[in-house]
Amino acid sequence: EQNVNNIKHEYMKLFQSENKLLPFTWIVIRIDGSHFHRFSEVQGFEKPNDEQALKLMNSCAVSVLEEFNDIVFAYGVSDEYSFVMKKNTQLYQRRSSEIVSAVVSFFSSAYVIKWKEFFPRTELKYPPNFDGRAVCYPSNDIIRDYLAWRQVDCHINNQYNTCFWMLVKSGKSTREAQSLLKGTQAQEKNQMLSQLFSIDYNTLPVIFRNGSSVFWDKEMMVTDNGTVAKSHKKVVVEHPNIIDEDFWGAHPFILE
Ligand code: ATP
Ligand code: ATP
Ligand code: MG
Ligand code: MG
Ligand code: MG
Ligand code: MG
Repeated sequence: EQNVNNIKHEYMKLFQSENKLLPFTWIVIRIDGSHFHRFSEVQGFEKPNDEQALKLMNSCAVSVLEEFNDIVFAYGVSDEYSFVMKKNTQLYQRRSSEIVSAVVSFFSSAYVIKWKEFFPRTELKYPPNFDGRAVCYPSNDIIRDYLAWRQVDCHINNQYNTCFWMLVKSGKSTREAQSLLKGTQAQEKNQMLSQLFSIDYNTLPVIFRNGSSVFWDKEMMVTDNGTVAKSHKKVVVEHPNIIDEDFWGAHPFILE
């Protein structure tokens, strides 16, 4: 009986395709809220940026870093978060579907549990869900390019959305607002904001402009024999520029 079972087990496993992520590469798991355009309307998010909604996302990301030891950095904007896993992680033997599903389901359930902490007066109308994917990036330069790409996207979208919603709130229809913004460059949008609405884009909250970065704040200590030791302190949420060198120069341990 035992033997028959083993044969069946091996046979059924033949149908399971391997989906191992390339060894010795950074793994990024990017999750994104499904249909959050609708979700944000149903839940009455402030437009263009609901700060509480962003803080809820950030709090879930902090929990993810605390839960999955091999995640060293996360970057979030809007309804998405990118989680960077150590190059040498052996979590689920690097099987993509297990890693992605574990992270995305953990994030979703944290989102639901924490909802009332951030929206004490708004009932959660239906269970939100997130999709997720894993992508490998083979070098430090390329993972830096990836993160810069997400932050550039944050800038572009935030600038557009800020203009769009100012136009709509000032009485334009959504179609009018769209056509006014069509083809405009960043500089024109900034001019529009300052001339029509007296808004200096660069003074908007940094969480909206730069998105959020989550990482372990490490403490450096010089031990008795002169070597440098690091100790994990806690997970922090900051809003640095992650395109330029400065942040990475000041935090060399994150991508080491
Ligand atoms: P998909 O399922 O393809 O991801 P989506 O509707 O989630 O579709 P996205 O491109 O992911 O589309 O965009 C997310 C949308 O969620 C934004 O356009 C915005 O309308 C809304 N949203 C997300 N976070 C916030 C927030 N903090 N404040 C206000 N609106 C938000
Ligand atoms: P893994 O993360 O590898 O899946 P696991 O601890 O979830 O580890 P499983 O092989 O999936 O291990 O087994 C699920 C375990 O969860 C069972 O062994 C049992 O201990 C527990 N469990 C699940 N459902 C029930 C239930 N309805 N009543 C009691 N125990 C349960
Ligand atoms: Mg999506
Ligand atoms: Mg989405
Ligand atoms: Mg999105
Ligand atoms: Mg199980």
